[in-house]
Amino acid sequence: MPHPNDPSLRSFIPVAPTSDFPIQNLPYGVFSSKDGLAPRVGVAIGDCVLDLWELAQDCRFDLVEPAVFAAASLNPFMALGPKVWSSTRARISELLRADYPELRDNEKLRARALVPMADVKLHLPFVVSGYTDFYSSKEHATNVGVMFRGKDNALQPNWLHMPIGYNGRASTVVASGTPVRRPRGQLKPPTAEVPSFGPCKRLDFELEMGVVVGQPSTMGEMLTEKQAEEMIFGFVILNDWSARDIQQWEYVPLGPFQAKVFATSISPWVVMREALEPFRLHGPVQEPKPLPYLQQTQPNNYDMQLEVGMRAGPMNAPANISRTNFKYMYWSSVQQLVHHAACGCAMNVGDLLGSGTISGPEKDQRGSLLEISWNGTEPVEFAAGVTRTFLEDGDSLVMRGWCQGNGYRVGFGEVEGTILAAG
Ligand code: MN
Repeated sequence: MPHPNDPSLRSFIPVAPTSDFPIQNLPYGVFSSKDGLAPRVGVAIGDCVLDLWELAQDCRFDLVEPAVFAAASLNPFMALGPKVWSSTRARISELLRADYPELRDNEKLRARALVPMADVKLHLPFVVSGYTDFYSSKEHATNVGVMFRGKDNALQPNWLHMPIGYNGRASTVVASGTPVRRPRGQLKPPTAEVPSFGPCKRLDFELEMGVVVGQPSTMGEMLTEKQAEEMIFGFVILNDWSARDIQQWEYVPLGPFQAKVFATSISPWVVMREALEPFRLHGPVQEPKPLPYLQQTQPNNYDMQLEVGMRAGPMNAPANISRTNFKYMYWSSVQQLVHHAACGCAMNVGDLLGSGTISGPEKDQRGSLLEISWNGTEPVEFAAGVTRTFLEDGDSLVMRGWCQGNGYRVGFGEVEGTILAAG
C-alpha cells in the first residue's frame, strides 16, 4: 500500500493544485451540517468534508471505539495514540484514492459520507485542556526588545538558553470566524500619572502556529525528544490577539495576564504532524548550544509559508501585510514541549502550545502590528488613503499557511477574526 504522503497519489474527488486539502493532507476537524447533523469528526478533501462517523457506522474502520468519530471534539480520537492516528490516516487515504473502488464505486455511501464544504459549519476542533504561549522567534523577540529596551539589551539573558513562555487561558480559545470584542483594561500611557480603566487603544494580532498535544505525560517525569515528538498530534494556525497598552502596564514582574486572555483564534483543521513529514528541516543553528535536555538530533522545524491579510475599515477585501515562514523559529515545538514538561508539569490530551509570534529576518516578514508599525511610529498604508498603526473596530485579520509540495500543497485553511467595539 502506498504511503499516504506519496506525492503521486490522486483522489477520485477533484482537487485543484492550489487547494489546501489534497489527498496528501487529510486534516481533521469537527463539523455540523445545514441538514441538522450534530457536530462530529470529519476530514477535509478538496472542497468536501469526509464524514468519519458515517463511514464508522458503515463499519469501514477497524477501530475498537469507532464512536470517537461521533464526538464533538477530536480529544477521544487523539487519546487513542499515534499508532491509531497513523493507521486511520492510511485507511482514509485508501478510501479516497482514485484507484481504489471501495468508496469510489459505492454511490450510496458516497452520498452520505461526502458533504460539500460550503454546506458545513466548522467548530473548534478540540477541547482545549490548557493553553501555553511561547516566545520563540529570535527576530520577533529582538524587534520587541529593541523597541522597549534598546538595541544593546534587546534579548533578555535567558532567551538563548530556553524557550520562554507563559501559561495562558484555555477558556477563550475560539474557532476561526468568531468575532473578537475589544478588551477593556487598566491603561497607563507613559505620560499619565495614574492608570485609568477603559477600552484597549493598541489592539494587535500575533501570527503563530499552535501545536495540538494528543497524548498525556506523567506528572514528575521528563520527556525525551522522541517522546515529545510522538505526543504531537498536529498543528493549527493561531492568532494570539494582544492588547499592547494593557500588556505594557501589567506585565511587570509576572508577564502577560489580561492583555492576552480575551481571545485566541485557531484555524478549524488540524493538520497532522505526519502530513508535514516531507517538509521538515533543521532550524537555525543554536549558539550557545542548549543544555543537554534541550538538544535535538533531528530536524524539528518545518518549511511552512505563512501570510497575513488585513481588511481595514472600508476596504472590500484583505490586503497582504506580512509573508513569512515557520522555518525561522529558533526554538522548535519539540523543544518547547520537552522544556514544558522538564520541571515535572503534566501535559494533557488537548493541550495547545502557541509557537510565539513568527517574524522573519526581513521587514515584510513581521508577524504583529507592533513590529509592522514599529510601535505605532510607521503606519501601514493601504489603498484609498486608509492607514493603521493598530486594529480599529470593524477591521478583519486573516491568516493562511501551507507547505508547498511538487504540484500540491498541504495547507491549513485560514483563521479569521473581526474586531467588535468594546461596547
Ligand atoms: Mn503570543
